[in-house]
Amino acid sequence: MRLGDYLSKEHSAQYEQVEKFVEGRTPPLGQPRKINIGQIACNFYCKKCDDVRTFLSSNNIQMIPITTSLISIDVRLACPVCKESVAVWFLVDVDGDITSLAPMVRLLKRNVKYTDNVVPPKGKYGKYSESLVKAEIAFREGLGAGAIVYLRKIFESIMYEVAEKNGIDINDRNGRKLNFKTALERVCNEIDFIPQEFLADGYRLFGELSNVVHGEFEEEEALTKYPALSRLVLGVLDKQIDREEMNVAKSVLGWNRERN
Ligand SMILES: [Zn+2]
Repeated sequence: MRLGDYLSKEHSAQYEQVEKFVEGRTPPLGQPRKINIGQIACNFYCKKCDDVRTFLSSNNIQMIPITTSLISIDVRLACPVCKESVAVWFLVDVDGDITSLAPMVRLLKRNVKYTDNVVPPKGKYGKYSESLVKAEIAFREGLGAGAIVYLRKIFESIMYEVAEKNGIDINDRNGRKLNFKTALERVCNEIDFIPQEFLADGYRLFGELSNVVHGEFEEEEALTKYPALSRLVLGVLDKQIDREEMNVAKSVLGWNRERN
């Protein structure tokens, strides 16, 4: 794998081996040096194209060695269709000799300077996109509990929104809002809310999200659990989007009197 391919992937906390990318002698610290890493390609939502596009770097990429093991790479990624661009900065940790044939690398930071026209690819999640991006930024900055607070906020909001849209009463006899667990049970009884593969663990998912918020997780544990919890929350969001699309299709086909 080339370093460009590695930087194009989702964030990984593991060291990975890449092909040689620095020719000649070890570059002096602070001096820009051309590196041979191929192209970097990242998905963003391009508002001009009104779609998710794979934004590409040029082949001509430079790095600046910050310390003997840290390199900084600044690139401009452009939409392949309309050429709208976005600036991205990568901070990469190189284990061992940077000029070796197969260096081990680990991405420490990836900062994207979003613009009015280029936004995170999670645009399809609408009003939840901002919290999803904040969760990911917190995760990448090593703030595990903070990241999970955002996930819990999303999980709660989508549950209340779905209850309201489907006319599910989530108040008790006195008109007071039920606690989250009871409300969630009621929603799950009425509609298909939690993705099939997590059905048995739906309440556990919320429990795990709560435990972090109530300080029962260590920061490290929150960071370890974040990727799985994030996938679960995205799974719930995707499911709601699928249901809405299906409802539109059903009403077009005249099936709208059938149960969701
Ligand atoms: Zn575009």
